[in-house]
Amino acid sequence: MATPTLKLNPPFRAEHIGSLKRPSKLLQKRKEFDSGKCSIEELRQVEDEAIRAIVDLQRQVGIKGITDGEFRRCAQLPLFTSAQLDSARARKRHMFYDGVFDNLEGMKHVKPVPPEMLMDYVPDVAAFKEHDFKGADTHICVSKLKRTKPFYVPQFEALKALTKPEWFHLRHGEYAYPKDVYKNDDEYFADIALAYQAELQDLYAAGCRNIQIDDPLLAYFCADSMIRGMEARGIDHAALLDTYIKAYNACLKGRPADMNVGLHLCRGNFRNGLYFSEGGYDRIAIKLFREINVDCYYLEYDTPRAGTFEPLKHLPPHKAVVLGLISTKFPRLEDVDDLVQRICVSPQCGFASHSEGNLVDEHAMREKLALVVRTAKAIWGDI
Ligand SMILES: [Zn+2]
Repeated sequence: MATPTLKLNPPFRAEHIGSLKRPSKLLQKRKEFDSGKCSIEELRQVEDEAIRAIVDLQRQVGIKGITDGEFRRCAQLPLFTSAQLDSARARKRHMFYDGVFDNLEGMKHVKPVPPEMLMDYVPDVAAFKEHDFKGADTHICVSKLKRTKPFYVPQFEALKALTKPEWFHLRHGEYAYPKDVYKNDDEYFADIALAYQAELQDLYAAGCRNIQIDDPLLAYFCADSMIRGMEARGIDHAALLDTYIKAYNACLKGRPADMNVGLHLCRGNFRNGLYFSEGGYDRIAIKLFREINVDCYYLEYDTPRAGTFEPLKHLPPHKAVVLGLISTKFPRLEDVDDLVQRICVSPQCGFASHSEGNLVDEHAMREKLALVVRTAKAIWGDI
């Protein structure tokens, strides 16, 4: 086998991850749509305008890996029949994991989730339960899983962030699928892998060459709280991590050689800096960097919660890492000299993992993105 070589451009020296701040006009319009006060066409027009503006903004500040800011997330409207539209209106949609499982045949929308079906050791579940978690919804596997329509292709403009394949499996533990549908995790993930493989092929055919997968769950395996919780319930967390790594590699199997795949890990990105987990990458570094077949990693590094750079020594020479040192959680701009000392650059996560986004206004977001580019130029001369 040929020696793998480091792929760059993408990732670019100055990067950002997925979501950008949604303009208030767009949020307002989505509310109107959700309450039946405007048509899909009206909503789509406002989305289109907002995406044009956010693409311009990224170009102006010098970002090369353009995204649509995830402005269409929650709104895969062209695929909906009117009945589906009503059910889409009725259910609370999720900004940062919608796309795959809500479009997969065999998954059922459940609202509210019976609390016992949510595993307390998962850090964001624990955080939400503390913050009054009533009425939450989810998707549960009820029959064989099959991709019968595209997940993200209709949204694809430049590049899109895909959700992680193990999301519902980790959250729901033994409730993730009925045992008469799948005998074990391997069977369950084999069908999920087929769905992801088909999606990647379709995205490739649509011109997509750069994928970001948003996966805070892998970072949860760095958190003592989850490890302790799993041990208390007799769950073999090391084996589970291996299962997820195997699932990733199955999902990515057969992808075209010139399709770049990056994996983003963080510890939660809510308003006011609310986060779910902490712990450096040390515990999972060897498996994360050496066993998952992705090309690069977008790692949160904006607070001590992410630990040190030490684990990066396990990164193989053919893989790139993008260090998320610039915080999107707060508007205060970091000092360039300080950032240069530490090698950089990208925000630590998106600006709007949930609909209204973090407490960073559009002006501050533009400044942040421009800062990413300025910092990259200060280090490498050009990006
Ligand atoms: Zn993130």
